[in-house]
Amino acid sequence: MSTLDTLIERNQALESEDVRVGLPLMPSLRTMIITCADPRVDPAHILGIEPGEVAVIRNVGGRITPGTLQNMNLLQMIGQVMGASPNSEFNLILLHHTDCGITRLESNPDLLAGYFGIDPSELPTKAVSDPYNSIVVDLAVLKASIPLPPSWQVTGMVYNIQTGHLQVIPT
Ligand SMILES: [Zn+2]
Repeated sequence: MSTLDTLIERNQALESEDVRVGLPLMPSLRTMIITCADPRVDPAHILGIEPGEVAVIRNVGGRITPGTLQNMNLLQMIGQVMGASPNSEFNLILLHHTDCGITRLESNPDLLAGYFGIDPSELPTKAVSDPYNSIVVDLAVLKASIPLPPSWQVTGMVYNIQTGHLQVIPT
C-alpha cells in the first residue's frame, strides 16, 4: 500500500466522526499559531488542538517573514469579512523549537536572507541557530510590522524536541 493509499484510508476511517465536519470557519479557541513545518511540532499534537479550534500558519522555522505577514493579513481580512470584531479577545502564539531544520541552512546565507527579505549582512540579527533568541526577535518584528489590535494577546513559546517541554517566553 502506498503512502497516499494509507492517508486516504485514514481519512475514510475518520469520515464517520461527525466532530470533524460542519465546523465553523472561525477558530473556536480564538487563536492563531505561527510555527514550523517540522513534522515533530504539529500544534495538533503538542498542544492537543482539536479540529476547528485554532488557525495555524506553518513555514520553515515558524519565522516572521514577509510571506508570514502576508498570510496573517489575509487571515485577518477573512476574519473581518466573517464579521469578527477587531476589539474582541484573540490569542496570537508564535512557536519555535529546538533542533530546527532551519539551522541546517546557515551555510547558505543568501537563501536565508531571501527568505527573510533582508540583506545577507543582517542575517545574524535573525538568531537562526537559537530558538530562545529567535522567538524574541520575531515577537519584536511582529509588533513592529503590523498594527495588532490591543485586544490581541501575543505569546512566544519554545518547544524542546528532546524533552517535550514547552517554555513560554515572557514578552
Ligand atoms: Zn523547525
